[in-house]
Amino acid sequence: MEDKLTDDKIRKIIWGLNLRRDKLQKKLSYPKGMIEGCLHVIYKKCGNPNCKCAKGKKHGPYWALSKKEDGRRKLTYLDKIDDINRVKEYQRYNKRLASIRKISEKIFYWLKILRDRYTFSYEK
Ligand SMILES: [Zn+2]
Repeated sequence: MEDKLTDDKIRKIIWGLNLRRDKLQKKLSYPKGMIEGCLHVIYKKCGNPNCKCAKGKKHGPYWALSKKEDGRRKLTYLDKIDDINRVKEYQRYNKRLASIRKISEKIFYWLKILRDRYTFSYEK
């Protein structure tokens, strides 16, 4: 399929990918304060049999940070919205990192196709 694309078309694709990578790179170059870990939403029962939570309407949502420490998962409650946002920022940052890698791989892929179009084996 890629064999049918003209060189210019491929250059255009690479150019577009590069723009996307550039945007991501700019964002990633100015990280905000982050907190490492995963965010969990927790709903709880309080134990009072007369409470609404006993009938299924649990209390919450509460936010908790889940983090691996010494191979064990540790859950810590987060009560400040700023801290919740810092964990979210950490997730976002990692997502962008993954995207930047994928885009780079695509650029690599297209460049190799261009290379192969202009490469011939030398034989005497
Ligand atoms: Zn309750």
